Amino acid sequence: MYRHAVFFTCLAFVPLTLGLASVEGKHTQHELVTLGLTAMLTLAQLTMLLGGRTLARALVSVALLPLLLALASYALPEYWIPLSSWDAMSRSLIDGLTLEAWRPALLATLGLTLLAVLIMTRTRSSLGGPLLLAMVVLLLGVQVSLARISLGAQLLRSAGDIWITLAMAALLAGVSVTALPGWRAHAAPLRRALVPSLALVFVVLLLWHHQKSVTERELRAATEAEAYQLGDRLTREIQDHLAAVERFANIWTLLDTPPSQAEWARQAALYHRDFRYLLNIAFVDPDSRLTRVYPASDLNLQVLGARLFDAQPAGRQAVSRALFEQRIGRTDVIMLLQGVPGIIHYLPIPLDERRTLGAVAMVISLPMLAETLFNEVDRQHTGLALAQGDQVLASQESQALPGPWRHVVQLDVTGAPLTLSVQPSHASLLQRLPRHPVVTLVTGLTLAYLLYLVLHGYTRLAHQHRRVHSTNTELRREIRTRSQLQEEVEWLARHDELTHLPNRRLFMETLEANTQRRPLSVLICDVDHFKRINDHQGHLIGDRYLNRLGRIGREVIEPHGGLFARYGGEEFVACLPQTDSTQALAIAEALRQRLEDAQLQHHDGKVLTASIGVVTLVEGPLDVAAIMQAADDALYRAKAEGRNRVRVAPSLTTIERA
Ligand code: GH3
Ligand code: MG
Ligand code: MG
Repeated sequence: MYRHAVFFTCLAFVPLTLGLASVEGKHTQHELVTLGLTAMLTLAQLTMLLGGRTLARALVSVALLPLLLALASYALPEYWIPLSSWDAMSRSLIDGLTLEAWRPALLATLGLTLLAVLIMTRTRSSLGGPLLLAMVVLLLGVQVSLARISLGAQLLRSAGDIWITLAMAALLAGVSVTALPGWRAHAAPLRRALVPSLALVFVVLLLWHHQKSVTERELRAATEAEAYQLGDRLTREIQDHLAAVERFANIWTLLDTPPSQAEWARQAALYHRDFRYLLNIAFVDPDSRLTRVYPASDLNLQVLGARLFDAQPAGRQAVSRALFEQRIGRTDVIMLLQGVPGIIHYLPIPLDERRTLGAVAMVISLPMLAETLFNEVDRQHTGLALAQGDQVLASQESQALPGPWRHVVQLDVTGAPLTLSVQPSHASLLQRLPRHPVVTLVTGLTLAYLLYLVLHGYTRLAHQHRRVHSTNTELRREIRTRSQLQEEVEWLARHDELTHLPNRRLFMETLEANTQRRPLSVLICDVDHFKRINDHQGHLIGDRYLNRLGRIGREVIEPHGGLFARYGGEEFVACLPQTDSTQALAIAEALRQRLEDAQLQHHDGKVLTASIGVVTLVEGPLDVAAIMQAADDALYRAKAEGRNRVRVAPSLTTIERA
């Protein structure tokens, strides 16, 4: 894995080198900057792989600085930091450098920023590694598809070129290949965090693309409308002027002699004043001779006296129309006598129905018309061209880099097919381009990242919680089992397993606990010839008899507030507090009788019996050994005297033995 990571990371240098080779000449600084930043991140990743974390982090930090600046320039609105300030900032670093010249394309900037974060966080899944990886993959995909669709000029540079995309892809492979096995091990919780946040990334990308298209379309429509307004204004102005000159021509129809120079100058001045592109207003006599001009500039005075039929063959038809047909004549774009291209309108001054006094010539100079147009717009940020068909008559490039859009509008110079093309500069468009699509993109991706972190943290907590919960349940079960076992052990320590009667230990404890409840009597009961039962009927029958005996003993003893216990083998004992000697004897006798009545038989049909020894402690300290000995002695006597009987030891009032 480690070797793969180094391999892929090094692989990034191939497209980087090819990209660098292709930059030569035709590209601008931003491609060099993007390639440089990618190379820096590639070096950082290699350093990280070789263990130099501090150096790697330093390299990433250096690369992050211009990336974050570029991102801010894309996202911050114009009224916060105007484009001109960004340009000024750039120029203060390198003379003549503008923001647009150096900043990497938007998606490349975002992709490289995410790669930088991936390298910094060493693709840890708890810090969003898988999501960052998926986001970079998506951004690369969008870059490739955008680069394919928008081959034409784009307003906001979104996608880096193919070499940058390839270098980023190789670097991404190098960054993530070591992390993949670890992620696969926790696939389920990762998926739970990844799927919703990735869905959000998808939505954000779609939304960004939609907003970007809409804002660019709207801006394009707005600049196009402005171009149309400019064209309309000019057309209207020329038509107004033509109408004014028509009125001017009508003034002279009242005369039957040509106007004097002074009169001409006085009247024409009124009309000429407002129209800067008008080279002159001239009077043409019926022989097409220019006899009056206004204004009397040197250029105009030079052409005074010229006979238009001879001097200006291109306009002959238009002049004839006015002089002979008494209709308005208009030339195409022709070379004027003054030596500049222009259009002339001839307006007839009729004398009567057939004869004319002459014609008014309204001379529009195209250079002056173009100049008027150029004065209407911001020369630095708008490129203009005035053309007739394919022939460009006048043009002016914007001083700033031209934008991607050229709007062509028709100018109606009373019939002359002139077109005006308006091309706003790149910078002026960028200034006006709304920033909210980028804000949507950056905010959306950040939100998706936060969503991932929250979901990942939550999933991990839930997992830990489940583990703690199951451990708790196991622990509780263990405790329950152990306490049951404990109870069993405790029960076994004080009871007999066969008969379930209290055993010798519990008997002794009961005896000691009741030491003050005098008189305290003890019975000891031994089955007669029990060995024979075992010998002749087997141990199973023996056990069953012992069980039966136990039950009978409890039934007899317990109603008297006593305890019946198995002392060992076929010997039983009873502890009877607050029972005197006489009572104890009666109880013992009852017990003996019950056993006899139970009709438990030997193999030869004889009834099973028992002998009982009784002892009663009236006063004095409790000496268990002495009591038991006394009881045993009484039992011995019962055995000796023929069995199946009760014998009482002398009452233990003092510690004297019977
Ligand atoms: P005695 O009248 O003199 O008391 O005669 P005995 O046969 O009862 O006396 P002994 O003490 O010689 O025999 C006791 C027998 O009780 C011996 C043993 O096999 C039997 N025994 C002791 N504990 C158990 C038991 O838990 N189950 C069975 N089946 N037999 C037992
Ligand atoms: Mg015995
Ligand atoms: Mg016995």
